[in-house]
Amino acid sequence: MQSAIENTLDIEQIRRDFPVLDQTVNGRPLVYFDNAATNQKPLPVIHALTRYYEGYNANIHRGIHHLAEQATAAFEASRRAVQSFLNAKHWEEIIFTYGTTDGINLVAQTYGRRFLGKGDEIIISTMEHHSNIVPWQMLCEERGCILKVIPVDDNGELILEEYEKLLSERTKFVSVVHVSNSLGTINPVKTIIDLAHGVGAVVLIDGAQASSHLELDVQALDTDFYVFSAHKLYGPTGMGVLYGKKEILDAMPPYRGGGEMIKEVTFEKTTYNDLPYKFEAGTPNIADVVAVKTALEYMAGLGKENIAAHEHDLLQYATEQLSELEGLRIIGQAKHKIGVISWVMDGIHHQDTGVILDQQGIAVRTGHHCCQPLMQRFGITGTTRASFAVYNTKDEVDRLVTGLRRVQKMML
Ligand SMILES: *Cc1c(COP(=O)(O)O)cnc(C)c1O
Repeated sequence: MQSAIENTLDIEQIRRDFPVLDQTVNGRPLVYFDNAATNQKPLPVIHALTRYYEGYNANIHRGIHHLAEQATAAFEASRRAVQSFLNAKHWEEIIFTYGTTDGINLVAQTYGRRFLGKGDEIIISTMEHHSNIVPWQMLCEERGCILKVIPVDDNGELILEEYEKLLSERTKFVSVVHVSNSLGTINPVKTIIDLAHGVGAVVLIDGAQASSHLELDVQALDTDFYVFSAHKLYGPTGMGVLYGKKEILDAMPPYRGGGEMIKEVTFEKTTYNDLPYKFEAGTPNIADVVAVKTALEYMAGLGKENIAAHEHDLLQYATEQLSELEGLRIIGQAKHKIGVISWVMDGIHHQDTGVILDQQGIAVRTGHHCCQPLMQRFGITGTTRASFAVYNTKDEVDRLVTGLRRVQKMML
C-alpha cells in the first residue's frame, strides 16, 4: 500500500545523499536500523566538514586574521541556526557542548552544586538514559539531595498521577527525557514542565531522541533547560547543545575553567566571560559546530513533518509485521511513539538475534540501551531494537522480518 507520505519524500533520492548506505555487509545490502544510537550523515554535512578543514580552519574569536574571522563567523552562524531550530529567545542561550551527556553534566555540576542542597528532591523517570540518571546520583551523593523516580506503566508510558504525587515544595529539579531511546515513547513534556513549575522546580528536558523527529519550541514548552546531541540528527559526533533560560544561565557558576570562558585573569582574581562563552572553555569543536548548521538545513529541506510522517509509516508497518511473529513481544506500546521498536523473543537471547541479523547485513542494537532500570522494570535484561531514519524503507522492514524468521529457525 502506497501512502501519501511516500509520495512526498523521494526516499531513493534521499538515500543517494548517504554514501555509507551503499555497501554490502556479509554479502547483503546493508540495512541500517541503529539510528537511535547514531544516524548516518548526508553528503552536505560531510562536505561542510571537509570545506572547513580545506578552506578556513582557524581558531575562533580571538584571531584578527582572515581565516579566524571566517571560522568565527561560521561558528556563530551555527549558534543562530540552533537558536532558530529551538525557537530560543536569545542567541546567548545556546551553549555548545560535546553532547547530551555533557550538557546534563554541565547543569548538574553547575546549577546543581550551586542551588541544590541537603534534602532537596530531584525527580527523574524510570525511562531515563543512564546519562540522565548518573549525573544526578553523583550530585545527590555529594550534596545530600534525594532522587525520586516517576514510574512507567506496562505500555511504556509515564504514570502522571504518580508524578503529581511526587511533586511537593521539596521538589527543586525535574529532569525527564522527551522521547525514550529504548521504547520510542513521546512524553507529554509540556504537562510535566507546567506541573514542575507549579511547585517552583526547575526543569531539564533530554531531547537526544526528540530533536530529529519532533518540532521543537523551547519558549512554547517553557522549559528551563533543553539538551541534545548533533550526531542523532544527521550531524557530526562530539557536538551537542545546551539551551538554558538566560537568567538561569547567568546565575550559574562556570563549568570548566580555561581559555575563552574568562574576561580577565590575574593571580588574585579571574572575572568570567558573558554568555554563552562562560560555558565554552577551551577551543571548541569548531568543525562539528559549523557542520551542525548544514545538518539542520538538510532536515529543514526535507521537512521535519515529512520525515516524522515517513518514520511513523515505517513504525506502523514494522509493528504490524513483527506482531505476526510467534513468540515475539514488543516492549513499549505507547500511544505516541517515534520510529523506535523494541522487542523480546521467547527462548532467544537478544544478543543471538543481533549476531544472526548482522550476518544478514542488518544492523540493530541489542541490550539495555543505556536504560538498565527500565529493563528491570520490564523484568528483562535487554531487547533488540530497530530505530528508523528518513532513509529507511518498507523493503528493509521486510528484510528484518525475514531475518527474524531465520533467527527463530536457527535458535528454536
Ligand atoms: C543518546 C542519548 C543520550 C546520550 O547522548 P550522547 O550523545 O551519548 O551524549 C541521552 N539520552 C537519550 C535519550 C539518548 O538517546
